[in-house]
Formats: sequence, C-alpha cells, structure tokens
Amino acid sequence: MYNFPVTKTTNPKARPQDESKLAFGKVFTDHMFIMNYTEGKGWHDARIEPYRKLELDPSAMVFHYGQEMFEGLKAYKGKDGKTRLFRPEMNAKRTNDTNKRLCIPELPVELFVEACKAVVKVDEDWIPTAPGTSLYIRPFIIATDEFLGVAPSSTYLFIIILSPSGAYYASGLAPVGIWIEDDYVRAVKGGMGFAKTGGNYAASLAAQVKAHDEGYSQVLWLDGVERKYIEEVGAMNIFFKIDGKIVTPMLNGSILPGITRNSVIEVCKSWGYEVEERRISVEELLDAQKSGKLEECFGTGTAAVISPVGKLRYKDDVMLINNNTIGEVSQKLYDTITGIQWGECEDKFNWTITL
Ligand SMILES: *Cc1c(COP(=O)(O)O)cnc(C)c1O
Repeated sequence: MYNFPVTKTTNPKARPQDESKLAFGKVFTDHMFIMNYTEGKGWHDARIEPYRKLELDPSAMVFHYGQEMFEGLKAYKGKDGKTRLFRPEMNAKRTNDTNKRLCIPELPVELFVEACKAVVKVDEDWIPTAPGTSLYIRPFIIATDEFLGVAPSSTYLFIIILSPSGAYYASGLAPVGIWIEDDYVRAVKGGMGFAKTGGNYAASLAAQVKAHDEGYSQVLWLDGVERKYIEEVGAMNIFFKIDGKIVTPMLNGSILPGITRNSVIEVCKSWGYEVEERRISVEELLDAQKSGKLEECFGTGTAAVISPVGKLRYKDDVMLINNNTIGEVSQKLYDTITGIQWGECEDKFNWTITL
C-alpha cells in the first residue's frame, strides 16, 4: 500500500463551466503527482502537489535527445457516482516496455497504478459528468541530467497530470477519412515504434500536415521497409472486417500495442468472430474493396475508443468503406467498451477498477 503525501493547493482554479465545450488537453486540474529518480537511490519522494510549472536547466537532457516517455488513460465518472479506470495495469506494463527501450529505469506496476488512483482521487471532483466526457490521465517521464553528452540520464522525473476532456463524438460516431502515406514512414522494426515516446510523434508531424492539406483527418502508416503492409494510424491501431473476419496488423515491433486494440480483439472473440493478427498489404485492401469484401474499417485508441473509417486514400485510389457510414461491428464495439468504461454494461472481463 502506498501512501503519498498530499500538498493541497491554496489557490484552486476556476472549473470549466460548460462541459459540452470541453476540448482535449487544454485544461489541467489543481494537482499533479511527481516523483524523482536518482541513480543509486531509485525512485523516491513520490508526492502529490499543486499543479505548477517545472523549473529545469536548459541543458536538461530531455530537451536535446528526447529521452522521455508518456502514457494515456482516462478516469470515467459513472451514473452510479463511481469513478472507474480502464485496465491501468496495462498502461503500467507498457510503461516498462517503453522504459526498457529508452534506457529509463522501470517503475513498479503497482506504484504506477496507485499513483494514478491517488492523484485522480485528489482531483476527483474535476471529472466531468456530461455524456462522453472523462478525465484524461497523462503520466510521463523525462530525463533531467544537466549534460549535453549522449548517454542515459542518471536522474528523472515521473509526473502525472490530469485534464478534463470533452466528448470525442459530440453528435454520435462519425466516420473519418484516412490518408495512406507512401513516402514518409513512422517507425521500423528494431526502432522504437512499439514504445510510447514523443520522438515517434515528432516523426509523424510532416505526414500529418500533408494529410490535412489533402483533406484527410489522419495518416495510416505503411511498414518502413517495403511500404507495402499496413501498420497503424497516428494515435490509433487499425482494424478491418474482411469477408466476415476481423483482421488487424500483428504486433511486429514497429506498431504501438494499444490497450484498446487488445480489448477489441478480446470482445470480438467473445462474440464468436474469427480474429486474425497478421500482415495486411495495401494490395489486399484494394482487392477486397473492389470485390465488396472490405466490410468495415475502424481505428482504436483511448481517446476515441472506436473511430469508424469511411474513406481510405492510397495514391490515386479512394476506397469507400460501407458507403462512408458506420459499420455494425464498429458501433457495437463502441457501445460495449464505452458501456464497460462508464459502468453501464456488465464488466465480464474485469477490466475496470474503481477508486
Ligand atoms: C497510444 C497509442 C495508440 C493507442 O493505444 P491505446 O492504449 O489503445 O490508447 C496507438 N498508436 C499509437 C502510436 C499510440 O501512441
């Protein structure tokens, strides 16, 4: 059992008045969790403090070589008044997979989960309650040695901040258009594609700008070697329903292992669908679409849960999927998983924990 010391703010912020106008990641709560790491001493001085600006030396290593990691999960306020977290131990385990790749010291899984729970508890009355809203939890670690040499840092900060966020779909699920990128790549096997680290996002921006300019909301990445096989979307994993089967790219080292992805696979299997984790080429998609077998496509991630894809653009081909409308499995998955998160459906997988 952890018992983190709490210093309460003496200067609480004004709460967002209109929950229907909450965006994503712009408003932060009154408190944050913070903990130090020092080589030889380990992780120490875990505490909850008033939300504040950090003071770092300009030479702090994170600013120069990107030794940092982050996670993302949410706290949901149910109609029963309970606050739920969705599979936070998966975020804790993924943190350690990321940390190993980036030479950041690992964190005890229980410490990660308890820290998330404790800081959410302190700011529990910041969790919005309007339909579809939640409190976004952003744990992250940065390298803080004051040193311009290239080496793993010997000091770090682990911080958790909280941000009330609005409903992703203000007026129901809506299909998006996605740009299949055939020039830039995001990650390659052996690189850090499976790790949740800022560098992967820095690498993605140029293609995202290009996709936006073309009128598409997100980028779908192809493998970095042959540019032939489907990998994932900007911050989502990708699924297809082809000829009745649920198909998603296998985890190959360059794809982020999403917790929503894992949950979707489990739910689909429990419904009796055949789920295939394998390589999927763009050619296969084009052929399936032409022969009418590409029945659905959707992205999965914590932010949107399920994001139906109505249109895929590859070079000069535009593939319309399900006539640019929401597929049946997409809708059912969205209803089921959000139902578990908000405590409105039976949680037969035991995925949620309450504070
Ligand atoms: C976080 C993330 C996802 C989705 O993971 P979830 O655990 O489902 O939120 C997918 N792709 C990338 C690149 C990500 O960073």
